[in-house]
Amino acid sequence: KAKLAGGNQAAFFDATLAETAEQRRHLENDLRQAVAQRQFSLYYQPIADLARHRIAGAEALIRWHHPERGLVPPDQFIPVVEQSGLINEIGLWVLDSACRQLAEWQAAGCPHYLSINVSGRQIPDGLPPQAVAAAIARHGIAPERLALEITEGILLGDIGVARAWLLAVQQLGVRLYLDDFGTGYSSLSYLKRFPLDTLKIDRSFVQDMQAESSDHSLVEAIVAMARSLRLRVVAEGVESAAQLQMLEAMGCHYAQGYHLSRPVPAADFAEVVAGIDRRLAG
Ligand code: C2E
Ligand code: MG
Ligand code: MG
Ligand code: MG
Repeated sequence: KAKLAGGNQAAFFDATLAETAEQRRHLENDLRQAVAQRQFSLYYQPIADLARHRIAGAEALIRWHHPERGLVPPDQFIPVVEQSGLINEIGLWVLDSACRQLAEWQAAGCPHYLSINVSGRQIPDGLPPQAVAAAIARHGIAPERLALEITEGILLGDIGVARAWLLAVQQLGVRLYLDDFGTGYSSLSYLKRFPLDTLKIDRSFVQDMQAESSDHSLVEAIVAMARSLRLRVVAEGVESAAQLQMLEAMGCHYAQGYHLSRPVPAADFAEVVAGIDRRLAG
C-alpha cells in the first residue's frame, strides 16, 4: 500500500488509483468466469401484505458464490458488472431464473409474485421487452406475477427511450416498481408520466421513523400521495415490530425487511414464509 509520506498527496492518490484499477481488473476477470461457470444464485426476501397479514411475494436478490471469497453481496460487484457490460448477460440470467422460480410457485399453487432488480444500464437494449416476453412464454408464467424494479436513474437519460421501454413492458402485463424512492430526484411528475404500479420507499426513511418525526411524516406523506395516485407502496428495511405497526397504521400496503426475514435461498423460502405467516396471523 502507498504511504502518505512527506505530505505527498499526489503520489498517494496515484498509487491508490493504480491499486484500485488492478483490483478492478482482477474482479472483472473473476466476474467473466463467474458468468461462464454460473457462480450466481438468487436469494428471496419475503414481502408482507400488511392488510391481509401474510406474505404476498418476494424480491429476488443476486448473490455471487466466489470460489475463494465465499458469498459476495451485490453492492460489491454490480457496479463493476454495470461498467463492464456484463450486466446484460447477468440480467438475462436473473430474469430467466426468476421466471423459473415463479413457474415453480405457480405449479405448487402458491400465489406469490416476484420482483427482480433491473439496472439502468440494461435499459433499453440489454433487456428488450421482447426478451421479457420470451422469458414469460418460455416458463409459462402469468405476467402479472412478475415485477421489474427500476430506479429513478433511468429517467435521467433519454426520457422518450425510457418511457417507450416502460410502456412496452407494461403492455406485457408485467408490473413496474420504482425502487429506492426518496433517494434520487423523486420528482412527482415521474409518478404521473410513467406507468408505475408500486413505489418502494427507501429503507433510510423507514429506519429513522421512530427517531425522527420528520421521517415519520415523510413516509406518511409518501403513502398518502401514492394511495391518491393509485400506486401501491412497499416499505423497505423494516427492522422492528414498532416500524411494522406504524406502517400498517399509515395504510402502507406492503413491508419488507429483516424484521420479517433476511433474503434466503430458494430451498428455505417456503419454510420461512410459513413461519412469518403464522407470526403475522397470530
Ligand atoms: P435493493 O433493490 O434496494 O434491495 C434491497 C437491499 O436491502 C438488499 O440488499 C436487502 O438484502 C437489503 N435489506 C432488506 N431488508 C433490510 C433491512 O431490514 N435492513 C437492512 N439494513 N437491509 C435490508 P442486497 O441484497 O445486498 O442488494 C443490494 C442492492 O444490489 C439492491 O438494492 C439492488 O440495487 C442491487 N441488486 C441486487 N440484486 C440485483 C440484481 O439481480 N440485478 C441488479 N441490477 N441489481 C441487483
Ligand atoms: Mg430492489
Ligand atoms: Mg431498494
Ligand atoms: Mg438499493
